[in-house]
Parts: sequence; C-alpha cells; structure tokens
Amino acid sequence: MKPLILLVEDEAALVTLLRYNLEREGFRLVDARDGEEALMLAKEERPDLVLLDWMLPLMSGLEVCRQLRRAQQTRQVPIILLTARGEETDKVRGLDSGADDYITKPFSPAELVARIRAVLRRAQPALSSETLEFDSVSMDLAAHRVRRGPRDVHLGPTEFRLLRHLLQHPGRVFSREQLLDAVWGRDVYVEPRTVDVHIRRLRKALNMPDEPDLIRTVRSAGYALDQPAA
Ligand code: CA
Repeated sequence: MKPLILLVEDEAALVTLLRYNLEREGFRLVDARDGEEALMLAKEERPDLVLLDWMLPLMSGLEVCRQLRRAQQTRQVPIILLTARGEETDKVRGLDSGADDYITKPFSPAELVARIRAVLRRAQPALSSETLEFDSVSMDLAAHRVRRGPRDVHLGPTEFRLLRHLLQHPGRVFSREQLLDAVWGRDVYVEPRTVDVHIRRLRKALNMPDEPDLIRTVRSAGYALDQPAA
C-alpha cells in the first residue's frame, strides 16, 4: 500500500507541484487548504504523514500541529513543517509544537522526498516492533527489560515509560508539558519540574561515566533522545 500524505498548503501552485512530484515517487496525496480542513481530513483519512505549511490562513501551521498532537486519533502521525522561516528559535518552536522535522522553503522536491522517507522510516519500526532500539539502547517491551550495549539498565516505572516514549520518537524534541501528558497522563497534576527530576534519574541509569549522553536538553524547549553532538 502506498503511503498516504496529507498536504496542508494554501498556495495552489505549490500543491500542484508537490502533488505531481510526490505521486511520481509512489505516494498518495490528499490536500487541505486551511487548518480546519486539515484537522478534519487527518481524522477521516488517517494519513501516514502530514506535510504542514506554517503560514496558513485562519489557523497557523503551529496551531494545527498542536491540535494534531492533542487528539487521540492523530497524536502519533509524523509531521513535517514547511516553513519560509529559517531562524533557530522558529525551528525550536516548530519542533516544540510537536513536528518531527521541518523543511525551509524554497526546497527541491527531491530534498522533500528524502525527508519524508527518513521520517516514515523513523516512525514505523518503532510502532510495530516489540523491541525499541536507539544507538546502543534496546528496550524489550514484552520482558520490560532495558539494555545499553551488554549491560542491563535498571529503571523505575516512570523512567521506563519516559524512555519508552523517547525511544518511540527518536530525535524529536518534547516539551516538559508534552512529556507530562504522554508519560503521566493528562488527568494528573504534576509540576513540570518533576520531569527534570525523572530525566536526571534516567540519565544516571542510562549513561555510565564513559558513555555519551543520549538525552539532549534543548534549552527552553525540552528533551530529546538523540545522537550526541560530535
Ligand atoms: Ca502558505
């Protein structure tokens, strides 16, 4: 089955161009011209990925992104933001709103297709398999067992759920609020700073002194499971 992409873009010429290129590359496409339509189609069509323009009429792409992440049926869908902005703070805001990746306009269709494939690859094995893996870390979901390389990692229940969530979305930056929702559940009131405490415990259990830290702190944004910067 060809992957279905929901393209949310108000510029007709760009929709035509992307439709032509993406269909030629073996994707199916549905498109929405504004945020309302996008949210509706995302629930009805269950796309494999959303390509979301930042600058949209009525509701911004960032707001659409947040709403997709909030809704039960769409919270797992990979999202790539299309943006004309290149500022680092905008990038952080975009990722913080729940996007998996972003691409700055103007971009070539080939570059976009490469990004789409990378995001789909990252999203799929994590959701279907019983073992989550990233770098030297593996988590056996059935056995509730975590290893880093040859070594067993012992985690408390909260750190286990925290790591599982990060392993399901490697590279993606989560704010403290998003981690609270995903790991503690939205009905529980917990101070955002509690997340920092559990991240500290997780780091301590996961990283031996000679091992690179796989948890990246993104200042004023949150945390991600990531390859350490070289
Ligand atoms: Ca636009």
